[in-house]
Amino acid sequence: MNPKHTNIKVHQFNPALDIPATCAGCPDTPCVNACPITINQETGEKALYVKEGTQAIAVHEDKCVACGLCAKACETERVGVIRRNPETGKPEGLCTYCDGDPSCVKNCPYGALSYVTVDTGYEFFGKSPEEIAKILSNRFYGV
Ligand code: SF4
Ligand code: SF4
Repeated sequence: MNPKHTNIKVHQFNPALDIPATCAGCPDTPCVNACPITINQETGEKALYVKEGTQAIAVHEDKCVACGLCAKACETERVGVIRRNPETGKPEGLCTYCDGDPSCVKNCPYGALSYVTVDTGYEFFGKSPEEIAKILSNRFYGV
């Protein structure tokens, strides 16, 4: 296993806070909304789309024009998990949820991860690591 291959990225802050970030599975999909590619009438999908079943955000590589609007929407409105491939400009960092059987959950040695239905009422739902760090820093350290 190599942590560099995961789509969970741990952001470290000072004072000491480690904030893991992955796709929040936003039901209102700002990333997909931002994609300018015309919806395919047969599939109902743009270049960026929601996969049936897992509801993971995925990309049709052949339809994507590497405009970066999905990454921008995720960064400005939500977690900021979409990265642009340095060579192609196409989106990366989208969690596949391992097709519904996530390896991270199975392998976390502390049992700290769960695969759950998205809860938009959760305090940290859709927040960026920076926003979460500010809240926790204030709560734990008073700064
Ligand atoms: S966290 Fe980002 S990539 Fe995931 S659904 Fe929300 S806007 Fe899209
Ligand atoms: S980079 Fe690709 S998937 Fe993202 S918004 Fe642009 S065309 Fe859509």
